[in-house]
Amino acid sequence: MKRTQTRSILILLMTLAFFAGIAYHTVNLWYHSSQWVSQPQNAHLSDSNGLEKAGTIYDRNDVVLAQSVDGKRIYHEDEAVRKACLHVVGDDSTNISTAVQTVYRSDITGYHFIFGLGLPDAIKSGNNMKMTIDSKVQKAAYEALGNDKGAVFVYNYKTGEIICMASTPTYDPQNVPSDIETNDKYEGAYINRAISAAYAPGSTFKLVTSTAALNSIANVEKRTYDCDGHEKIGGKEINCFEPNGHLDFREALARSCNVYFARLAVDMGPGTMTKQAEKMGFNHKIVFDGIESEKSVYDVSKANTNDLAWSGVGQYTVLATPVNMAMISAAIANNGAPVQPYLIENIERFSGAPATEHKVRVGSAMMSKEIASKLYEMMDYTVETNYGKSSFSDTLDVCAKTGTAEVDDEGTSHAWVTGFCKDKEYPYAFAVVVEHGNSGFKTAIPVAASVLSSISD
Ligand SMILES: [Zn+2]
Repeated sequence: MKRTQTRSILILLMTLAFFAGIAYHTVNLWYHSSQWVSQPQNAHLSDSNGLEKAGTIYDRNDVVLAQSVDGKRIYHEDEAVRKACLHVVGDDSTNISTAVQTVYRSDITGYHFIFGLGLPDAIKSGNNMKMTIDSKVQKAAYEALGNDKGAVFVYNYKTGEIICMASTPTYDPQNVPSDIETNDKYEGAYINRAISAAYAPGSTFKLVTSTAALNSIANVEKRTYDCDGHEKIGGKEINCFEPNGHLDFREALARSCNVYFARLAVDMGPGTMTKQAEKMGFNHKIVFDGIESEKSVYDVSKANTNDLAWSGVGQYTVLATPVNMAMISAAIANNGAPVQPYLIENIERFSGAPATEHKVRVGSAMMSKEIASKLYEMMDYTVETNYGKSSFSDTLDVCAKTGTAEVDDEGTSHAWVTGFCKDKEYPYAFAVVVEHGNSGFKTAIPVAASVLSSISD
């Protein structure tokens, strides 16, 4: 009797182990098969790494960005458009990890969970993908960045459609340069800097400090300060670019007074600053269409008072991604809550299954409606009194904030601008960063201006 019982238990355990094994492998297959299929050791793959019969990728206006003809992957006929769209579309390889030809390779090549790549071509063809980007705007961004390294991110703050996500340096996916791994000019070319790179945000971060202050300091808008260009905070100097004179809260943002915002950060303390920064996307990944961004970073856990002061003006160890900064501007333009960005309008399934319909998704609020409306007005005032509305566009009414973030002891700085268009017809939020661009006003605004002009043309 006892022996029978032992055997029963043994059989039960073996059965359980068997099913656990099946479950493990099924889950593993479900999660990873689409990645395994594009591995080079897969014998089904050819020179085009499985793309030779893949579906067509279109931009928002049905311009063909990539298609397969006679067993070869062919990209757009204009070299500038090919380079401009590289980080969104990808190339034949999977080197650009966030490009759709990498992330969605199994979808566009017709990989099937049950049948693998083994389905007949007649059934398999037609996995076309329609993107939200506008190749004309991509090209304008690529040309405006020129030989600089940097990124442009523009999206519709009402619908979430990303119309531009450009990154430089780039290369031609149709003729991948043979010296790409050794030539300095291609350094980091596989990285989409709009989402996968984080930079010191400099004064664009004053939008975060402003939000925290409006939230937690009573009557902060009436707080005045006479800036003579520097002040000792926590025993060490905080400097402004120039003496900013007599300021209230709105004027302090418009003239970008470092001391004013450094003092706010210290008054609020690390807890309040961290909480607000995290509410606005810092220390989290931004995920859209299965593509993950790098994290923006706000960490003052080891900061002394002077460090905390510098963090309030986007220096110290603060880092931000362009997509994050664009979403902050989008929140301000959209009553405090940013619409989540997206890139893929639909994927036409070979199986005849319905295409994925995108729904507008509003993210959690970064600030109250009242604070959003105050910041809206302040960014409007900043452009009007400091940059000039015409520096952005002759036709679009733009609200913005620049940043010039020091990144080394030699005084070179990254140039930033983030903002949004007021026009109901052009509800776009944007962020531009130019590495070592040295001036948000002189370097980043002209890039934003070219890109915005290409939208309204
Ligand atoms: Zn100042």
